[in-house]
Amino acid sequence: MVLTEEQRALNRDRGMSDRTTTVGRLDEVVSTPEEFDRAVSQALPVLLDRATSYTKRFLRETGQWSEDVAHEKFVLRWGAEYLERFLICGRSEVPCRPLFLLDSLVAKQHSQPEPFCYHPDLLTPLGRFLDGIVARAAISRDALIGLYHHCYGFGPGDVIALTGLNGSESQRIYKNFRRWRDSGWQRAMDEVGMTEAELNELSSRQERHPQRFNGESERLIRFAQAHYRKSEPDHYPCLSRPQWEEMFTQGYGYDYRIWHLALCLDCMQTAWALGSKGTPAVDKPRVELRVRP
Ligand SMILES: [Zn+2]
Repeated sequence: MVLTEEQRALNRDRGMSDRTTTVGRLDEVVSTPEEFDRAVSQALPVLLDRATSYTKRFLRETGQWSEDVAHEKFVLRWGAEYLERFLICGRSEVPCRPLFLLDSLVAKQHSQPEPFCYHPDLLTPLGRFLDGIVARAAISRDALIGLYHHCYGFGPGDVIALTGLNGSESQRIYKNFRRWRDSGWQRAMDEVGMTEAELNELSSRQERHPQRFNGESERLIRFAQAHYRKSEPDHYPCLSRPQWEEMFTQGYGYDYRIWHLALCLDCMQTAWALGSKGTPAVDKPRVELRVRP
């Protein structure tokens, strides 16, 4: 379930006092997959912290670190990526000491020649375009809101209806759209080096073979979304339909909705009709890429 701000703060405080005992247990030997699951499931925040701070140290030591939001989110994503791999492979590594297994997994990743390699499809023009806007969305709210337009063709009114926002929050959505159109999009394109010719080529491919193009886009969008969603561990987990319903009817979790729905096609398709209570204000979201803002 998704937590409110207060609950999260409370958990953080509690986490502080529990932390030493949890770490204590993690450096003891676990002998069965069940024991492994039990030990690590109680310590996920501690393990994420550990994987993240190793990654930060690695970037510092190799001169790739700077103090900004983009780098903070980058190490969070990779920390989460390592943690996921650890959860999958750890069960087959028993007996082991979970803490040391995580350490060695992260160290092994960092010693590879290309530790942060990308999916090869993200190096095509379409892949670079999508990676560029989704990467930007992890650090800029304008870009995050822009994703609703680029992936599904939504305008500000659709975003507000879909996420069930009201009042001042809705005004912000209009501003986000405006700033993204005025300068944000161009800046994101410059950052990934998309040329005018490449952008035109994407548009004409879409005109010639809309179905194939949007299908290919959906595959890459899912891949990029899954990766960049990890930038925000609190907003990362997917919800079931009843959980989404509860969130919309009880009126909490606005930040979670805006972030997660922009970055999760599956939840978007689960939750699309909940914001408008009754008749859906937007058609069921499907990927229909918009190259221009
Ligand atoms: Zn989801």
